[in-house]
Amino acid sequence: MKTFCGRANPTTGSMEWLEEGEDYDYHQEIARSRYADMLHDKDRNVKYYQGIRAAVSRVKERGEKAIVLDIGTGTGLLSMMAASAGADFCYAIEVFKPMANAAVKIVEKNGFSDKIKVINKHSTEVTVGPDGDMQCRANILVTELFDTELIGEGALPTYEHAHKYLIQEGCEAVPHRATVYVQLVESRRMWSWKKLFPIHVEAEDGEKILVPPSEMENCPGLPSVCDIQLNQMPLSDFSTLSDVVKMFSVDFSKPVQSASTCYRVQLEPVKSGKAQIVLSWWDIDMDPSGMINCSMAPYWVKPTSALQWRDHWMQCVYFLPHEEPVLQGEKLYLTACRDEYSVWYNLQKTRADEEEHKADVCVESPVCRCRAHLLWNRPRFGELNDQSRTRQYIKSLRKVLTTDSVCLCISDGSLLPMLAHYLGAKQVQCMQPSRIDLYHPHELMAGTNNLEDKIKIIEARPELLKPSHLEDKKISVLVGEPFFTTSLLPWHNLYFWYARTAVSSHLASNVTVLPQSASLHMMIVEFQDLWRIRSPCGICEGFDVRTMDDMIKDSLNFRESKEAEPHPLWEYPCKSLSEPQEVLTFDFTKTVPEHCLSTEGSVKLLRKGKSHGAVLWMEYHLTADISVSTGLVQLSNEKGNCEWNPHCKQGVYFFSSVIESEILSDPTAVEYAMNFDTKTGEIAMDFKL
Ligand code: SAH
Repeated sequence: MKTFCGRANPTTGSMEWLEEGEDYDYHQEIARSRYADMLHDKDRNVKYYQGIRAAVSRVKERGEKAIVLDIGTGTGLLSMMAASAGADFCYAIEVFKPMANAAVKIVEKNGFSDKIKVINKHSTEVTVGPDGDMQCRANILVTELFDTELIGEGALPTYEHAHKYLIQEGCEAVPHRATVYVQLVESRRMWSWKKLFPIHVEAEDGEKILVPPSEMENCPGLPSVCDIQLNQMPLSDFSTLSDVVKMFSVDFSKPVQSASTCYRVQLEPVKSGKAQIVLSWWDIDMDPSGMINCSMAPYWVKPTSALQWRDHWMQCVYFLPHEEPVLQGEKLYLTACRDEYSVWYNLQKTRADEEEHKADVCVESPVCRCRAHLLWNRPRFGELNDQSRTRQYIKSLRKVLTTDSVCLCISDGSLLPMLAHYLGAKQVQCMQPSRIDLYHPHELMAGTNNLEDKIKIIEARPELLKPSHLEDKKISVLVGEPFFTTSLLPWHNLYFWYARTAVSSHLASNVTVLPQSASLHMMIVEFQDLWRIRSPCGICEGFDVRTMDDMIKDSLNFRESKEAEPHPLWEYPCKSLSEPQEVLTFDFTKTVPEHCLSTEGSVKLLRKGKSHGAVLWMEYHLTADISVSTGLVQLSNEKGNCEWNPHCKQGVYFFSSVIESEILSDPTAVEYAMNFDTKTGEIAMDFKL
C-alpha cells in the first residue's frame, strides 16, 4: 500500500504530495513521538507506580480480584506496573498497531504474558463478555491519555465510554482526578503572539504609524492550544495579576461527561493591570487522598520543589478575546469553556446570573474573524511585533529605496511592502508565493492605513511573472524577509533565492536585492534536557523497554538519519561547546547555481561537556552592514549560555553518539560535511566525532 505525504518543496515554495511506502507514516510517528520522553519522565513513572500499587491494594483489601483496564498502553508500562503490584489480570488496549506489537514483545520479554492481554483496538471498539476481548468489566482503570491541555487527545470521550461499557461502578481509577489551574497575567511578550502592535515608521515626511484594524484588536483568534515550556519564560516577561486558582477538576473514578460545558471562578486581582493572558496547567492525583500528586506547575508556583523536565506535558497559554484593564481587589469572573477536545477562556467583570446567562457566558469556541490569525501563526505575530527586528528592516530599506524605486517583495504575510510604501518607493508590488490563497497584510490593514490601491498584488507565481504585471517596468529593488509559511527548517526560506532566480529577467541591471546574501551557521551544543527525546531509556522503573528504544532507533534511521529537525531553542536551553561557525553562504545578487554547494571542515570543542548535536540557523545580510539572525542572538563566553531568536525554530542535528569533551588544552575536533543540493533545496550533513 502507498500513502501520500505532504511536504513543502523549498525550490518552489509550495506543497507537494509525494508517494511514500506504507511504512513512512509509521516511522515518522515513532521517530518523532513522545514515547521516549514519557519513559524518561521519572516523576510521572514513579507516581503512576505508587498510584497503581495503592489502587491494587485497595481492591485486594475488599477481597476482590484486581482486574485492570489500561487504555492506551503504549509500551505496556502501566500494565506491567499493575501486574507487578499483584493485579490478577490486565487488559492493555492500544489503538496504534506498531505500538501494540511492541507492547506484546515488551510484555513477553518482561515475563508478564500470562497476566497481560494486549488488544490492538481503539477502546470504544473493545467488547466485553465470554466471547469478547474482555471476559468481564474491570475494577481498576489505568490511563495516560493526557496532553498539555489535558483533554486534547480525547481523554474525556474515552473515559465516558469506558465508564459506560468497560468498567464496574465504583472502580478505582489511576489517576483518580485531574485539576486544571489558572493564573491571570499581563504580558506584552505573550500578548504579542496574538495581535499586531502599531508599527512606527520614520519617513521623509514625518512619522507614519501602521495601525492594526479594530477587528484585529477584538478578534478571539484560533482555538488551537498554545503550549510552551513556560519554565523558560523569565519572570520579567510577565506580571501575575491573580493568585493561582483551581479552575475545574475531573474525577476519573466516576462517570465522566464529555459534552461541552463551562466552569466559572471568582478572582480578585492581586495587582492592577491589563488582563491579557490566562496561563494554565494541570496536576493529577494518583490516589483519592491526593497524597500522590504529579504537577505541571511552573517554577514560580512551588519554588522549592524540584522540577521534572518533560516535553510531552508542558503548560498552556490562553489569550483572552480582548485586553481588559483590571483593578486590585475588584471582583472578576473567569470562565473556562470546553468542548470534547479543547478549552478557552473569557473574563467578565459582572456576575452573569448563574442559570439565566450561562448560555451567554458559554460562548462558542474562538474563531478568527479578522483573518490575520489565518495568515500569521503565533510565533510569526511575535516576529512581526519585534520592534528591533523591524527597525533593522526599516533602516536597510531606507538605505536602498529612492522615490524612483520599483519594488517587488516576495515573502508570505510580510509587512515589508507597507514599509517600502511608507518609506517612499514609487511602485510597490508583492507576491506571497506559498500562500496565494490568503489575503495580504495590507489588504487586512488597508482601511485603517490609507493603503487602498497603494500596493499591487501579483497573484502569479514568480516563474510566471510577466512584464505586464510590473507595468512594463524593471524591478529596481527586490526584497524579502525572507519568510515562507511552508518552511520547516531554517534554510527552506532560501526559496527566496529560487524566486529571485525565476524573476531574473525582470530585474533592472543595477537591481538591489535585499537581503543581499544569507549564511548558514553552526555550533556544537550540550542540551540541558532536549537530548532526552532522542536518548534510549533501557530500563524504566525496573521494566526492560529496550524493544521500544530499538524501534525508535530504527525509525530514526529509516529516512531522516542525515537530517536536522526543527526546534524553537528558546524553549530548550543548551550550552555552546564550540564557537559559532559560518559554514555556507548564499549570494542573492546572483542566481541559484546549477551545482551543489558543499563544504567540509572541523570545529573545535572549547568547553567541557557532552556533545549532543549541532544547531544550525540562518543569518540574512540585509545590506553590507545590517544583518538579522534567526538563530543565535547572544552567547555568554564564560559559561557558553546561548540566547536564541525567540520567534524562530532552529535546526537541530542530533549526533548518534555523544562524546564528552574534557581537556581544553588539546581540544577535540568535530568534523563536518554539508551539502546544499540546489536541485532539491535540502541540506545534507554528516558529522564525525
Ligand atoms: N500508557 C503508556 C503510553 C501513553 S501514550 C505510558 O504511560 O507510558 C498514550 C497511548 O494511548 C498512545 O499510544 C495512543 O496511541 C493510545 N490511545 C489513545 N487513546 C486511545 C484509545 N481510546 N484507545 C486505545 N488506545 C488509545
